[in-house]
Amino acid sequence: MDSCKMIPRVSRRLVAFDFDCTVVDANTDDVVRDLLPADNFPSETIIHKEGWQEYMSEVFRRLHKLSFSPQTIRDKVRCIPEVPGFVRLLKRLHQAQENKYDLVIISDSNTIFINEWLEAHGLVNCFESIFTNPAHFDNDGLLHLQPYHHQTDCKLSAANLCKGKILEHFVAKRNLRDNTHYECIIYVGDGHNDLCPVLKLRQGDIACPRQDFALDKKIISHRNKMDLRADVIRWKSGFELLKQLAGRDPALNDTDAGNISTETTKQ
Ligand SMILES: [Mg+2]
Ligand SMILES: [Zn+2]
Repeated sequence: MDSCKMIPRVSRRLVAFDFDCTVVDANTDDVVRDLLPADNFPSETIIHKEGWQEYMSEVFRRLHKLSFSPQTIRDKVRCIPEVPGFVRLLKRLHQAQENKYDLVIISDSNTIFINEWLEAHGLVNCFESIFTNPAHFDNDGLLHLQPYHHQTDCKLSAANLCKGKILEHFVAKRNLRDNTHYECIIYVGDGHNDLCPVLKLRQGDIACPRQDFALDKKIISHRNKMDLRADVIRWKSGFELLKQLAGRDPALNDTDAGNISTETTKQ
């Protein structure tokens, strides 16, 4: 089978992160919507009729109409606090001995919000890829949002974003492109839309639901009815999750503390 092997096969580990309520301790869309006066929120019937993205597009139009600048929106996102310990967790994984972890984000937020927050926290370089809905400010300062993709066959996921498909596609692409084999995939998330990728994990992988949030509750209440092959590590903070992951992989132990910032976020 391996007779025509040209590139040496590399074994690595992949950690995929949700963003809202996993890395940052809030929902980025809610935080930005809350810039509007409460009596000027768009009607929630838009969500039911046209979906969340159309609702957020209406939020962005209203913010624009009220002269909220791109900088005001960016500043609001920058100031969202991390889930305690996540900045340290991300840096530790990125700087792990043997450099064996690849990090990705798979999120239903958007490119503007995620990049803004990661830049503010010096984390952009930690990630191999960021999969989320594309967004951009036009010349007039209005924020435009597009779906990541359009899918209808996964019923666990929204039409604009199936995290399970994205994860599978990334793993297959790494395998084909540079013969990288992920010996272990770790998925960290909190919400309903994180169930699809968690069910794609195999034996030996690790699902890491945020304790007492939707994904965790779903796993607990439906575990014997669902085909969940991965181990489960529940966590309340990044500190706790790091401790548990380091218990399984000594490469994550703090042997090189001088290089690792122990500061938490400034905001
Ligand atoms: Mg989330
Ligand atoms: Zn899906």
